[in-house]
Order: sequence, then structure tokens, then C-alpha cells
Amino acid sequence: MSDFTSVTDADGVAVITWDVPGKSMNVMSMEAFNLLDRLVDAALADPAVKGVVITSAKKDFAGGMDLNVIARMREGGAQALFDGLMGMHGVLRKIERAGMDPKTLKGGKPIVAALPGTALGIGLELPLACHRIIAADNPKAKIGLPEILVGIFPGGGGTTRLARKMGAMMAAPFLLEGKLSDPKAAKAAGLIDDVVAPEDLLAKAKEWVLSAKDADLVKPWDAKGYKMPGGAPYHPAGFMTFVGANAMVMGKTMGVYPAAKALLSAVYEGALVPFDTALKIEARWFTNLLLNPSSTAMIRSLFINKEALEKGANRPKVPDQSVKKLGVIGAGMMGAGIAYVSANAGIEVVLIDAAQEAADRGKAHSADLLDKGMKRGKVTPEKKAEMLGRITATTDYAALAGCDLIVEAVFEDPKVKAEVTAKVEAVVGPDCIFATNTSTLPITGLAKASQRPEQFIGIHFFSPVDKMNLVEIIRGKATGDRAVAKALDFVRQIRKTPIVVNDARFFYANRCIIPYINEGIRMVAEGVEPVFIENAAKLVGMPLGPLQLVDETSIDLGVKIAKATKAATGEAYPDGAVDEVLFAMAGEGRLGRKANAGFYAYDVSGKREGLWEGLAAHWPVADAQSPLTDVEHRLLMIQALEAVRALEQGVLTDIREGDVGAILGWGFAPWSGGPFSWLDIIGAARAVEICDALTARHGDRFAAPELLREMAAKGESFYGRFAPAAKAA
Ligand code: NAD
Repeated sequence: MSDFTSVTDADGVAVITWDVPGKSMNVMSMEAFNLLDRLVDAALADPAVKGVVITSAKKDFAGGMDLNVIARMREGGAQALFDGLMGMHGVLRKIERAGMDPKTLKGGKPIVAALPGTALGIGLELPLACHRIIAADNPKAKIGLPEILVGIFPGGGGTTRLARKMGAMMAAPFLLEGKLSDPKAAKAAGLIDDVVAPEDLLAKAKEWVLSAKDADLVKPWDAKGYKMPGGAPYHPAGFMTFVGANAMVMGKTMGVYPAAKALLSAVYEGALVPFDTALKIEARWFTNLLLNPSSTAMIRSLFINKEALEKGANRPKVPDQSVKKLGVIGAGMMGAGIAYVSANAGIEVVLIDAAQEAADRGKAHSADLLDKGMKRGKVTPEKKAEMLGRITATTDYAALAGCDLIVEAVFEDPKVKAEVTAKVEAVVGPDCIFATNTSTLPITGLAKASQRPEQFIGIHFFSPVDKMNLVEIIRGKATGDRAVAKALDFVRQIRKTPIVVNDARFFYANRCIIPYINEGIRMVAEGVEPVFIENAAKLVGMPLGPLQLVDETSIDLGVKIAKATKAATGEAYPDGAVDEVLFAMAGEGRLGRKANAGFYAYDVSGKREGLWEGLAAHWPVADAQSPLTDVEHRLLMIQALEAVRALEQGVLTDIREGDVGAILGWGFAPWSGGPFSWLDIIGAARAVEICDALTARHGDRFAAPELLREMAAKGESFYGRFAPAAKAA
């Protein structure tokens, strides 16, 4: 069995079929690409072949390049990488020219791509090199070039071809944002040429091959007098496009994502030269990008390791624990969200609250989300009815009989949680796993209320549940393997990404994010210009500045957490300066977005207007401001150090989880690949230097952990020391 096979039928059409053995989705490997090359050569050389159809035997065309291959490509260094890319361009260019005379542009063999379903990445770049792209009318199919989302750009000619086919402006959403379309939308946008009934796909493709004329095979950029749609950079309209695109990219990425810059450079420079030179420029920028540590780290965390965690990299070896019937206790903001994502995954849900009205309100949250989906045409009335039919909203604990997993999301109060635990255990079967969604209370303590502490676990969702993809699973001291497997299988069912951590104050995510917020607030107290704090955070790639973040999560929650932390840590409590600001804000009723007043000002409709002008009256801005790097280092290092301490203390047991969890959980500078990847990029020695400087200026909270010092002394990296298998990625 091989990835591609070619069969020529009686009418002289060679059908090259992509069907990677043993996989549900085709992904491209270098070997497969070489095989495709040979099959194309054979078809072009065979006088009996009039033309070629490239299609797939699977329900989809292809998911893209195997990113592990891309990760490995960089190992040979720049020249080998560039040569490999040029080899790939050569094959695709051969398909595009299809044996035609380069002068007369005559005599080529038509080659058409017939897409039964999804076609992503190289799965669209290959069709873009063909003479026509026909897709089956399959509304579930996704067509596009999502490379930018994992820190690279389409480097198989997709960038150059799409920019020339559509013009830079029209291609921008597909290249710069990785926008995906269903076949009809892809046709309307000009990504593909035709959409046909699925059963007619092959026949229509062959029909086109057999009727194509010489002129049908010539790409606009190979024809005489080609001009880039919308204008090349020195055309007045093109000039506007490129200036605008550059500003837009810088505005969106703050310049921290090398992929967007490299992509724009490839398009801009490519537009000024002939097509084959443009491909060479694309290959140069792609080489440059793949050798950039940011792209390495992004691919590793956002693709390879994220997928490994989703597939159960850290799942204990116990039989399948898929959830059939779920009980959710507490139908508030979190419980309602958990019920929605679970019912959406086909799980039967019993949603319990203390009052029927509250339970019904929780279920109504699902109805609201489904209504929104219907408005966008994504949900049918039948699907809505079916989904809502899976959720039983009640106050009756007896309805929990037969549940195999419970997720408790009642008030953050150990007494209430203990009562609920006992009430649930009185009605569920002996094998049922009990999970708490607490965000701050140690699991081991809460498990004391359980008769079966080995079946007691933390499953910590992030808000809003339907949007946030990370789920933090917390093992209490007594938690057994089956409970961990159950939690992981549940997270897989609801298609989110899990990390598994050990029990400690604030677990992992909150442990890192709270110091980030506190550092921002501390700077306000010190007189650092608040706008400077927020912008410095953005310039290191944080999606939200610390002051905006605390406004979103609410300042009274910050006060509550501060009080609880102070009670738990006593004399050693280090955040008095932060509390002064936090408590003063809360005292004035500036509780954040929900109160329409916080560190930011909001208009009556709740729109954020800018930082609150009253801040300066409370905390005057100092005459001398810190250098930008000092503020940037403080904001990033305070999080990264907490991650290192979590690893040192055994809260984290896998740095892959630390990195993936940081990006998905609280948006830690995605360009860096996560806190451990960031420390690896700058190197342990430089990290220690930064810590020493920050400690001297700002205090002991920046003291480098022993582990980091030891690694600096030995010249080690986190991925080298803790994840040798993941290092190659
Ligand atoms: P919420 O106040 O919106 O909802 C709590 C719900 O529990 C209410 O509807 C309440 O009526 C119900 N309830 C209280 N006592 C009950 C009982 N004895 N029996 C049945 N129902 C009862 O709170 P929330 O924001 O949804 O938080 C719930 C839990 O999730 C808390 O432990 C919280 O720490 C945790 N959490 C919250 C967030 C967040 O961002 N809000 C994030 C992660 C975890």
C-alpha cells in the first residue's frame, strides 16, 4: 500500500488517488511527495494519457503537511531546507506547466484536482498548482491555508499562487488569518473553480480534463501581460494595499509573530519579480521562518504537543472511561457552560441546582448559545431540540442515579461543597467519579468529604466554558488512576485540551496568572504609567494587559483571592502593595467590566473607553519611567518563574503541559511556545541574568529558582532536560 496510486482508464485519464494507509485523513510526507512526483512524470510521459485527475479515496482530500515532517526539515540547516523547498516547488511547477512548450504555452496535459472534502495546507497548495479545482458540494468540508495559526505560512507555493490569483488584498484573510471556507464559499471567493454534487465529482473532473483546451491550462501569471489583481506594490492601489496590510499586521501582532512578517515580505517582494523568482523568495522566507525559534516553539506547543496531550500522552493505562451520563451540580455560570459542552458532545446531562428556577436558567444558557448558532446557520432546529433533550434541569438528586461522572460547580465554599458531595454520593453508584470545578480550594481537602477519595478529582474549566479550550485536571493526594483516566476521557469527548497537575494552591494556571495581574497592579502603585504597563504586556505578546485582565475577571474576585491568600500565608504574605490598590478600587465600587468601572473607563453600553483617568489622582505617575525592557521582563518573567516553581515542586510533571496549558489557559505569549519554551529561547543563563537584575531592582519574588541556576550552570534547556522525545520537534 502506498500513499498515491495511479490508474489510467480507457478514455485516457490517469486518476492519481491519495489514500494514506492506516490514517483517516491524508497528510503529506516527503516520501509521498516524491511518489507523487514519479506518478506525475509517468503520466506526462505516457502517450496514452490525455490528462490527469488528482483526488482522494478518503472522505476528505487532505489535512495538510505532516507538521512533524516540517519540524524535522529544519534539522539539516538552512541550505538543505531551502533546497528541499525548491525541490517541492519544482514538482508543483511541473504540474502547473504539465509538459507545455514554455514559449508557445501549448501541448500541456490538463491536470485537475477533485476534492471530495476538506483540503487544508499542502492539500490546497497542490490543487492550486493544478489547472482546475473542483470540489464536491460537502458543506462540512473546510478549504483553506491555516498555516499561520501554528506559526508558519503556506510555504508550498500557496502564498505566491494565492496572492497572484486573487491579489494581495483579497488573499489577505486566507493567508494572514488562515480563514477556512466551505466549498461554496471557497468558490465564491475564487479559491476554487467549481462545486459539483459529490456523486458527480470524478465524472465532472474527467469531463473537464477531456474537454480542456491549451489556453485553459495557462495560469494568468504565465500568460503574457499578467498584472497582479489589485495592483503590485508600485501601483497606486497596490501601494495602498501593502501599506495598509503592513499596518494591520503590526497592529494585530505587535510585531512578535515572525510568520506574519515573513509572509508579508514574501508576498511583497514576490509581487515585484517573475513567478519563478517569487517562488524562490517564498522558499527563502520560509527557510528563514522555520529556523526562527519562535516558529519551532509554536509548532511544538500548539500542534505536536497539544495533539499528544489530547490523545492521552499522560493517561494512566486503564480501560476506556468514556462518560455516558453526567451530573452537573450548580447551574450557575460554570455549571451551565459545562452542561452545554457535554450535551453538545452527545452526553446525557442532569443539571442540578438548589432551586428549579436556577436549574432552568442554567439550561436556558444552552438554548441561548444554540439560538446564536442558528442565527449563524451553524445549528438546525432539529439539532437544538436534540441537544436540549439531553439536558434534564432539576433539583432532584435522585435523577443522578446512573451517572458515571459528576462535576460539581456550586459556590466556592468548602462547607457547601462538602454537603453536596455527601448528597451526591448517597444516590450515585459505587463506581461514579466525583469531580469538583473549584478554582482555588485544594482537592485533597475537599476530598475529605468523600467516602471514596480515590474517585475524587479536580476538573477545572475556564470561563467562558464554551470558548476556552483548556481543562486543568487536578490529582488530589488520594486520587486514583481511574479517576484521572475518566477526567481525560471526558475532556476528549468534549474536544478540549487537558493538562494533568498535582494539587497545590491555585493549581497551575491561576498560580501563574495571579502574579501577572499583581505585577501590573504593583506597577500602578509604583507610579509606572498605566498605558505603558498595558502596552508593554502587548509588546511581549500577551493578549490582554494585566489591568484589562483584572477588569475582565473582576476586582472583587481579586480582593477575595487576596484575602484568602493572606489568611493562608500569614506573615510571609508579600502582596501588601498590590492590595492597597485593589482594595481602594473595590472600595470605590470600581469592580471591573461587570460594574462598568475599573482600571478602565466604560461607556453606558459597556464599551471599554480607555484607562480610567482617576488612576493618576490616587497613584501619581512617576517622573522617571522604567525602561521598556524592565517592564516587559517583569511581566513575562513573573509568570515564567511561577511555572518553573510549579515544575520544581512537582505540581507540573510534564513541561509540555506547562507550555500548552499556559497558552490555552491564559494566553501566555503564544509566539514563544509557552513559558518553558520562552526560557529555552533566551537560554537559562540569560534568564538567570534577567532574574538577578530584576531581584536587585524589584525584590525577591524574581529570585531565580535553584533549578534554573543549575540548568544555567550546566548549559541545559528545559526541552533538552525534561522532554528529550519532544526535543526534536
Ligand atoms: P455561580 O455563582 O455562577 O454558580 C453557582 C451555582 O451553584 C448557583 O447557581 C447556585 O444556586 C448553585 N448552588 C449553590 N449551592 C448549591 C447546592 N447546595 N446545591 C445545588 N446548587 C447549588 O458560580 P460559578 O462562577 O459558576 O462558579 C462555580 C464554581 O466554579 C466555583 O467553585 C468557582 O470557584 C469555580 N470556577 C469559577 C470560574 C469562573 O470564572 N467563574 C472558573 C473556574 C472555576
